[in-house]
Amino acid sequence: MTYYVLLDAMGIQRTVFETNKLKVILGASLQLAQWQLYCRDSRAKSGASYMSSAGGNVLAGFDDDTKARMFIEDACLAAQGCGFSVAWALTERKNRETDQEVWQKLQVEIGRFKAGDRDATDYAYLPELPKIDNKNICTFCGMRTREKSDGGAADRDKACTVCKERILLKEKDKKAAAGTATNLEMLYANHDFAEDLEAIAGVKTGDERASVAVVVMDLNDMGNRVKRIIGGQSDEFKTFGVFSRSLEEELFTLFDGALKTVFGVSKSLPCQPLLFAGDDVAFVMREDYWIPFVNEVFKGLKTVKLDGGPVTCGAGVVIAPHNFPINRLVDMAEELAGNAKRLFRHRQAGGKDAESVLDWHVFQESAFASALEARQRLFLQEVQTNEEAYMATDKPYTASEFNTLCGGAKKFWGNLPETKRHGLYEALCYGPEATRDFLALQLLRDENDQLQKYDGIWQAVEDWNTQKQDGDPVLWHTLKTDRNGALEGSGAESGPYKTDITLHYTDCTDSMELYWMQQKGSGQ
Ligand SMILES: [Zn+2]
Repeated sequence: MTYYVLLDAMGIQRTVFETNKLKVILGASLQLAQWQLYCRDSRAKSGASYMSSAGGNVLAGFDDDTKARMFIEDACLAAQGCGFSVAWALTERKNRETDQEVWQKLQVEIGRFKAGDRDATDYAYLPELPKIDNKNICTFCGMRTREKSDGGAADRDKACTVCKERILLKEKDKKAAAGTATNLEMLYANHDFAEDLEAIAGVKTGDERASVAVVVMDLNDMGNRVKRIIGGQSDEFKTFGVFSRSLEEELFTLFDGALKTVFGVSKSLPCQPLLFAGDDVAFVMREDYWIPFVNEVFKGLKTVKLDGGPVTCGAGVVIAPHNFPINRLVDMAEELAGNAKRLFRHRQAGGKDAESVLDWHVFQESAFASALEARQRLFLQEVQTNEEAYMATDKPYTASEFNTLCGGAKKFWGNLPETKRHGLYEALCYGPEATRDFLALQLLRDENDQLQKYDGIWQAVEDWNTQKQDGDPVLWHTLKTDRNGALEGSGAESGPYKTDITLHYTDCTDSMELYWMQQKGSGQ
């Protein structure tokens, strides 16, 4: 085996989520999964002596150059047919080059492809750029020209060829036999998911503003893991093939099991898998399900053993009304997952006690700004009155921090009436002084100083005071930074913070958000 081909589906997120129409998204996701399976199954036909196909990538080995080139053409044309762009690389193993050296050459070629640095003819298999035709634009993607009416279902008349294919694929609802199906199809076979976002959000029960949660999950440190595996062995990518295959199988078992545990078995589950490609996973579900779902997946990941090291993920969750554009919500959740993964790298990269990490955002704005920007606006209001103090969020949380926060939320906020809780939440968003004022003036005055009426919150305040140092604002934990911009007492030579300031952390607002969402869940 001397010739190696690497295929890389580019911009999977961008392609799948180019539209906010759920049906087209699901169809595109199925197409990607089927393309992956098509490549794997074409091993015999193409004469490949090696084939690994998972997570948007295909690695194939051939004995001669012609077969390798024919495979590239066939696989790229198949992807082009369903609107996916594939970068490809072909290289020859020379003079006992190791797997690692071959892999590096392939990576360089893929990089050149993406940078537009290869021969013009190498780009022949990319999907055509959409033609701009303002009068006849597809109502699904808003990009390509729509087809002429074919007398079919009314909304399909307005679709372009690509979107039409995707809708048809999703509507076929075929329950393929295990073994010939993609993992995504097997999820469809094992669970009966609700058809549209209204059904997922539960609008039919009368709540127009019913919200959904978009959950995006991405395994930590995968690039390095692959590098380690290929660098550690030179066995014609056999170990790598076993690794990527078992990764797919383990993740399928994990998510299939988590869905069964959290949603049970019934018709029209309030959930849909949006993307299920290798370690790239996105789900939409009714808002009250995401906490148990995320906890279940975090728990399950601990039992996944791939190559010895622990497997963890970065998760991002956005909670928003169901009629917000779903593809924008996925973007935002993706950004939060990225934010969570940075914490993973910062605190525990590859460490023994590595944990999954999570960031979430409850959407309260009407504009579709980035969740991280919105958070800055939400949490930086008291800075103007006190230049020396900054509010900081504790998000992202590690899996165990998140668990603790969920567990304590009820005890903390449980016996406050809903209106008081909203008032306190707003005060907490505003800052430590506003919080103290609210506790002293609103809670006390309104109820004629009857402290015992809300004994939960007063108990919490009391507990807080005994645990914290004197001078800490109530319900806010604070940390000081030193002149190096590191946390005081850390001894670090530099840090990411402003120097010599007080950071006020907002874990109480986070805890209250979790309380609300858990309440909605138990009220069902
Ligand atoms: Zn379209």
